[in-house]
Amino acid sequence: MIANEFDLTEEQLDLQAFAKDFAERELKQKAIDIDHDHGAFPMDVFKKFCDAGFNSMFLPEELGGQGLSTLDVCLVNEAFATVDAGFICSATTGEFGMEPILLYGTDEQKQLYADYILQGKLGAFCLTEANAGSDASATATVATRDGDDYIINGSKCFITSGGLADVFTVFATVDKSLRHKGITCFIIPKDTPGVSVGKPEDKMGMVLSNTTELVFEDVRIPAKYRVGAEGQGFGIAMNCLNRSRGVNSYGALGIAQRALDECVEYAAQRKTFGKTINKHQAVQFMLADMQIAVTTSRTLLYHCARNCDKGNFDPVLGAVTKTYLSDAAVKVTQDAVQVMGGYGYSREYPVEKLYRDAKLWQIFEGTNQIQRMVIGGALAK
Ligand SMILES: Cc1cc2nc3c(=O)[nH]c(=O)nc-3n(C[C@H](O)[C@H](O)[C@H](O)COP(=O)(O)OP(=O)(O)OC[C@H]3O[C@@H](n4cnc5c(N)ncnc54)[C@H](O)[C@@H]3O)c2cc1C
Repeated sequence: MIANEFDLTEEQLDLQAFAKDFAERELKQKAIDIDHDHGAFPMDVFKKFCDAGFNSMFLPEELGGQGLSTLDVCLVNEAFATVDAGFICSATTGEFGMEPILLYGTDEQKQLYADYILQGKLGAFCLTEANAGSDASATATVATRDGDDYIINGSKCFITSGGLADVFTVFATVDKSLRHKGITCFIIPKDTPGVSVGKPEDKMGMVLSNTTELVFEDVRIPAKYRVGAEGQGFGIAMNCLNRSRGVNSYGALGIAQRALDECVEYAAQRKTFGKTINKHQAVQFMLADMQIAVTTSRTLLYHCARNCDKGNFDPVLGAVTKTYLSDAAVKVTQDAVQVMGGYGYSREYPVEKLYRDAKLWQIFEGTNQIQRMVIGGALAK
């Protein structure tokens, strides 16, 4: 990882080094094995992750957490992503799921959710449905008011940590005809009767992350589990994504940094035509382009995180950061395979996995086409 050209404090550098050391020690070999075998999220590593306090870093101190800044959390997540982005993506869904509650919930809701985190449990953010991905206003999961309760019916798909979480933040509509104006946000504990989890998705990459369908059949929850007002859910989801999609691109940066590191090492050893391949200008230029992409990605990510820490959740900056970092990660990892030639294409070497893992970052939290619509729409105003 690049030293301190990003104006980080000593504490931040130490925190990142601690996370990197933990991930190398506890996760590295397991991640390789799980990816090869299409295995499951390593709960044993997650337990140690919680014991080390990584899961509660984002949680405000008044709720029992450590109250670290967005940039601090980003630095830790980036360090984990250089080892395995799938693990850290699933391990941090407690934060992703809690964001609507932190921004819009009551004190009682905040403490309810915080207690799950403090007990080492996961949450999940549940917006996407089979017919409502990019177009979240097409949400068909229905919430029907019944006295002091709501009854939830419907299903969600592609939910990160869907099979691991104990609490779900679910977006459902109180009236489908209202489209986005009917969408409402709810907290649903997993142990509520009528909640069931589908089988894990068999994905091309990010294998350590758990991704499942969730089904809600006549799930009765008290009205006090509604976050914000009826019809406020679409705005809640969009505001949360405006904040998270930029800083959550730590995964794309971690993947790209790792690909660059692997290539620099490989190119210094592999010889063709009597010299190491890093002496061939064509290879040097690929490495240089990777470095340009990584440095630019890091600059943008930290800038975005610092903005969030000032309370500025600029949707355009979030969209720019998410789109740039994920496109860069796909290009860097694709070139990493090229630099390593046939060995880059082999599963014996790490870069083909990085290429597969990178691809997801162009898709989730709003595809890059949707992000370009956000950026282009703002320019057209
Ligand atoms: C591994 C994984 C984990 C995920 N985790 C979560 C999660 O935790 N929680 C959650 O709620 N969701 C999650 N998602 C869902 C993800 O956010 C959606 O897949 C994504 O928003 C795209 O929706 P879609 O798959 O339905 O694609 P569609 O919306 O069907 O899009 C298909 C294609 O059409 C393009 N497109 C659509 N509309 C337009 C338009 N108006 N203009 C131009 N192009 C357009 C898209 O860019 C895309 O290329 C996850 C997805 C994956 C794959």
